[in-house]
Amino acid sequence: MIHEECGVMGAYDFDGGDVALDLYHGLYTLQHRGQESCGIVTNDYVKLYTVKGKGLVNEVFTKYNLPTLKGKIGVGHVLYGYTGEENDGVQPIVSRYCKGSMTICMNGTITNYDELRSELESRGAIFQSSSHAEMVMNMVAVARTQTHSAEEAMLATAAKLKGAFSIVLMSPKKLMAVRDPYGFKPLSLGKRGNAYFFASETAAFDVIRAQTVCDVRPGELIKIDDNGVTHFDSMVGKVKPAQCIFEYVYFARPDSYIDGKSVYKARIDIGRELYKAAPAQADIVIGVPSSGLHFALGYSYESGISYVDGLMKNSYVGRTFIKGTDEIRREAVSIKLNALRGAIEGKSVVLVDDSIVRGTTSANLIRLVKDAGAKAVHMRIASPPFVYSCPYGSDIPERKALAAVRMSVEEIRKSIDADSLGYLPMSAFARAGLADRYCDACFTGKYPDGAESR
Ligand code: SF4
Repeated sequence: MIHEECGVMGAYDFDGGDVALDLYHGLYTLQHRGQESCGIVTNDYVKLYTVKGKGLVNEVFTKYNLPTLKGKIGVGHVLYGYTGEENDGVQPIVSRYCKGSMTICMNGTITNYDELRSELESRGAIFQSSSHAEMVMNMVAVARTQTHSAEEAMLATAAKLKGAFSIVLMSPKKLMAVRDPYGFKPLSLGKRGNAYFFASETAAFDVIRAQTVCDVRPGELIKIDDNGVTHFDSMVGKVKPAQCIFEYVYFARPDSYIDGKSVYKARIDIGRELYKAAPAQADIVIGVPSSGLHFALGYSYESGISYVDGLMKNSYVGRTFIKGTDEIRREAVSIKLNALRGAIEGKSVVLVDDSIVRGTTSANLIRLVKDAGAKAVHMRIASPPFVYSCPYGSDIPERKALAAVRMSVEEIRKSIDADSLGYLPMSAFARAGLADRYCDACFTGKYPDGAESR
């Protein structure tokens, strides 16, 4: 199972209302992007108010601490964090420097982090964590002493950063959002009345009854302050955009739109293409909740095979615990999902999932479906085989851990005990409307910015 590292939010209410509750509801919607820690920082022009900590949104925020977050500007964050790495950078990160306060939230990974951090350390900078957001904040603080405004400082910093970043930044009286020139990670601007919002996914706008205004374009910085909303495009169009294609396959919620494209529709179309590329003869098609469901529906539409809810998800299992050793992963699959014997028994089943990483989860899923009485299980995967890691912040493991690097498709089929196995071919993404402006490096090894695989 792959995890995305973060979700970010920002809010600015020109009418002066407190924004904390909107940020809280927005973060709830973005919870799937990170379950390890979360936080909100607000600003009433007099002081900053902070609530943050380890845990889920409904664990960190309470009816007692949420009302303490005053102010018409604020930022919020949910973080997943790398497995096995130091993870002490609970965001938002707040800092005070010669120009006042600065608060930052970030989704992504800076690929030249080591080099930039060493440069700062050689000039006396002190770090409290390994968080890339903290390093970016240090760089903005240094740049701010040499520029006339926070937005100039952010742009000067962004020009030095390599990799993927969608950042929301709050200075004493401004809210800003910036997206790397490739636009790897999504980031959108929404509006409700006189309040503006930034969010990693547009689904966060729906719950707070805001309308999507636009996406923050790859390379764009948008500033909101007393003068209104200002767009800066000095970095726009410098490189060909390369948005993460895996957002459509797995990371994003189906009710989100990324760069104007419905994630739900993309998944249905991918499901249709999956059938065309890897047809199976079966009685029913079932999807692995949650992301596999809409691929399965598309597969069913195209094939005419009945779509059935064959796996029940226990929504109350915290994703925080679904990681660690293979044994924990095995147990986690059965705690998290159960097969509906009544739907599956005696049937030949097409089982659709978003991806195969190590192969362990697929093997456990197939065992679950066979134990529920399936005659045969034809595994279909709604993405091409993972053969490269991701340097841009998605925790796809090192190449040597990937099933498709270690084994042929037939060897994987045997190892997961599937009756047949079929993947989505790369070319099918284009037929599903995902062509030209996407990063697909974890499938192809073609890193848009020339980064190297681990
Ligand atoms: S390498 Fe894969 S997961 Fe990483 S940004 Fe590119 S498409 Fe997304």
